[in-house]
Amino acid sequence: MYHELLSDATFWAFLFTIDQDLAEHCRKDGCGCGGRLHRANYPRKPAGGPRDLPVEYRYRLSFCCARDGCRKRATPPSVRFLGRKVYLGAVVILVAAMRQGPTPRRVRELRELFGVSHRTIYRWRDFWNEHFPKTTFWKVARARLVPVCEIVDFPRSLWEAFVRGGDDRAGWGKLLRFLSPITITKGLEIKLSDDRDQPAEDASRRC
Ligand SMILES: [Zn+2]
Repeated sequence: MYHELLSDATFWAFLFTIDQDLAEHCRKDGCGCGGRLHRANYPRKPAGGPRDLPVEYRYRLSFCCARDGCRKRATPPSVRFLGRKVYLGAVVILVAAMRQGPTPRRVRELRELFGVSHRTIYRWRDFWNEHFPKTTFWKVARARLVPVCEIVDFPRSLWEAFVRGGDDRAGWGKLLRFLSPITITKGLEIKLSDDRDQPAEDASRRC
């Protein structure tokens, strides 16, 4: 079962290694002003993961320019946190995908499995159906995928395009990496409305 992978702490440790890799690329690039980047992580209180979620999930990796007068933020894309959403990215995808398809899972069942409220599940549905297809990211990225798979509904079609079985970590890694551009501010041209949003990772913010 797909949700069993999400209750496995080693899966989350695996995703963290991908985030470290994405962060290292960002750090190496440095600030646009030429300054060096210093670590300045954002605190996080993610929901939907297992109880023994690794301690690294209490923050999102981020940097700040070391140069006085600049101090600009640089937040790398993430495979763990879907933008400002409280729930972990993989949970947002899996729960929404399980609601779709030929035999949609009932909201009640998903609530019991993941502890996600009715309202949140419906808000995610709106995010995937109405917001996601309009993003700049998707308009560009669809050209890479559409010849390979038929996109019928989000996020299920995407999930099926990448994930090949109950414990396909590599597939999950690829899917989350593919979606990672939408996890940074400039990756989304349209604003998401989510009343449980966490503080913005605003690229223009100083620290
Ligand atoms: Zn700078």
